[in-house]
Amino acid sequence: METLVLDFLNSDWHDYRGSGRSEDYFLRVDWRKQFLANWHLDVDAEALDEATLRSLISLRTLLWDIALRMARGEQLADEDIVQLRPFLQSSAVQRDLIKDESGRWQLGLEPLKKDWLWVQSEIATSFIELVTRHDPLRIKTCANGDCGWIFYDSSKNRSRRWCAGYACGNVMTVRRYRARHAQKVGEA
Ligand SMILES: [Zn+2]
Repeated sequence: METLVLDFLNSDWHDYRGSGRSEDYFLRVDWRKQFLANWHLDVDAEALDEATLRSLISLRTLLWDIALRMARGEQLADEDIVQLRPFLQSSAVQRDLIKDESGRWQLGLEPLKKDWLWVQSEIATSFIELVTRHDPLRIKTCANGDCGWIFYDSSKNRSRRWCAGYACGNVMTVRRYRARHAQKVGEA
């Protein structure tokens, strides 16, 4: 399952191949442009001031912390709500009538201003939707410790261990193969 908040959390990139390299993609304007485009957020990617950038990064740290605790079976704590609320309410919305994809009018919420503070409240909203409408125990981090990518496991028996695609699964298979092979060589 693709969600806005998981995409945002994974902007803190670590090389899944184990080189030890990491990069904060959120600091790159090209990444932010793609992120806004992917989620149809009509905001100027470059109109991000220092204070809002810092605020978004601290939201990311907070969400990582809460997501990992909820993935271990903890509930949202009152203190989490106190910390989340300012991000959720960082942008004002009004009721409006919006045409959906099939051309029908629907009641919806529109931001008074489409800026990065609105994006921030959309990220917080996406997170709260994820943990209240879906199963928080399905939030997982990739079993490849070098990767650390966060994902939502939609598999039937909740058995998925790797992040999107097959890259990490392949990396781990190769590593296990090499480890076994090295062991056998050692035994011989
Ligand atoms: Zn991974």
